[in-house]
Amino acid sequence: MSHPKYIFVTGGVVSSLGKGLTAASLGTLLENRGLRVSLMKFDPYLNVDPGTMNPFQHGEVYVLDDGAETDLDLGHYERFTDSKLGRANSVTSGQIYQAVLENERKGDYLGQTVQVIPHVTNEIKRRIKEVAKRQQTDVVICEIGGTTGDIEGLPVLEAIRQMGHEMGPGGTLFIHVTLVPYIRVAGEIKTKPTQQSVAKLREIGITPQILVCRSEKPIEKHVRDKIALFCNVAEEAVIEERDVKTSIYEVPLMLQREKMDELVCRWLHMKLPPAKMSEWKRIVRRLEQPKQKVRIGVVGKYIGLQDAYKSVYEAVCHGGIANNASVETVKVDAEDIEKDGAAKHLRGMSGVLVPGGFGNRGIEGKIEAVKYARENKVPYLGLCLGMQIATIEFSRNVCGLKGAHSTEFDPKSPHPVICLLEEQKHVKKMGATMRLGAQWCRLAAGTTSRKLYGNEIVSERHRHRYEFNNDYREQLAAGGLVLAGTTLDGELVELVELKNHPFFVASQFHPEFKSKPHRPHPLFRGFVAAALKRKQA
Ligand code: GLN
Repeated sequence: MSHPKYIFVTGGVVSSLGKGLTAASLGTLLENRGLRVSLMKFDPYLNVDPGTMNPFQHGEVYVLDDGAETDLDLGHYERFTDSKLGRANSVTSGQIYQAVLENERKGDYLGQTVQVIPHVTNEIKRRIKEVAKRQQTDVVICEIGGTTGDIEGLPVLEAIRQMGHEMGPGGTLFIHVTLVPYIRVAGEIKTKPTQQSVAKLREIGITPQILVCRSEKPIEKHVRDKIALFCNVAEEAVIEERDVKTSIYEVPLMLQREKMDELVCRWLHMKLPPAKMSEWKRIVRRLEQPKQKVRIGVVGKYIGLQDAYKSVYEAVCHGGIANNASVETVKVDAEDIEKDGAAKHLRGMSGVLVPGGFGNRGIEGKIEAVKYARENKVPYLGLCLGMQIATIEFSRNVCGLKGAHSTEFDPKSPHPVICLLEEQKHVKKMGATMRLGAQWCRLAAGTTSRKLYGNEIVSERHRHRYEFNNDYREQLAAGGLVLAGTTLDGELVELVELKNHPFFVASQFHPEFKSKPHRPHPLFRGFVAAALKRKQA
């Protein structure tokens, strides 16, 4: 395609409407029509990236191959499409202002007064166009974080308004995701919040051409007509997006049934064959009619918040798809294990998973969970902190290294089996200073991981500061810990396993970031398979 097209996805009324899922699902549909699609997220907050933000507020930090620490919506984009994402695909207002201020200090603005319009808006537009150019895409789907009406989102909305004007008809498309609430006591669906949110956008100069209406009830014809009339869109452009029954992977199919992709193609003057969705249909069918069921305990600290371990839960679900099983993830608070013991919370689980994490709280509970899984031969998968915890547990309880710990939690530990590398010891700044992004790992012959990957060399993503302490390699290996994977130079331990255990695999990297519903990650596939085996036994 000659000129890249731009689709902007904004959100109205409330947050958490699943704008990211909608954008990602549209990406699926367009990709399956043969387009090269890139997705980007624009977050209006002033943090440079979410890397330093509390998961309780922000949910998981999603890591890309190039080490960018991004919003969890980028995870949806990668799971739903094959778009190659990098640092440029995740932009915050913090980055924009930082760039503008750096330009100003360099004297790039030649004495002008530096202002939101045009300097900030130009920088925003430059970044969006840059993604299209560098990634050679046909379509960029750009999701704007936050809700229409937020003060901090205004410069972004102004920038995309300008783009709409500059590119003319067929160049851009504005999609607004909105809430159409059902008021139970009145037994009625309400359109006013949507009307007002669209009015707000039109005040700014943006007229959305498609409205995606999130709703728990079907939106009937007369409601659609009303929304169309008041919001100045065609009736067919009122897209119903109901709450999903089984899984988020239904959304692309739902939008296809609503003919949303057809409409998008028409708006953007693109003649394309219909989207081939047989693979997605197969995924959804497997999730709706699983042959088996299994329960897995996820032992963490941010258990109350669904978004904090988003990619982990998704990857476990993909492991289920690979095994034609549905997996119920039972969220176990590590502090509850500290109070009540592991058995009370993990009995009945066919697998135990300890995900990544930071900070002291719940650490001993996680160690007990690993001990339980090791001793009772329950399949165990450890991710990042989950690998460090497994190493600590093994050191203490199998190798007899009393007080073994990570220096993150006990700087004076007599056996610092997990510690900082020399280069990390002098790091003072918190942002973007961890070991981040994709790195190669060599898997040892004869290990579970090697069998599952079917490859000797694999690439996986990292996000951590602490590492397996090489001074303890020999001792722990002699005790029976299998050092199943290392960096290519052999310097860092990346994976540990146990022999004489049905499945015990723990990685320093985060495999969950590379799993897709149509390409389940080998470690999650193997973990769920082992859990199913345990259940049958
Ligand atoms: N807190 C640990 C570290 O920094 C583990 C990090 C993680 O699990 N992502 O090394």
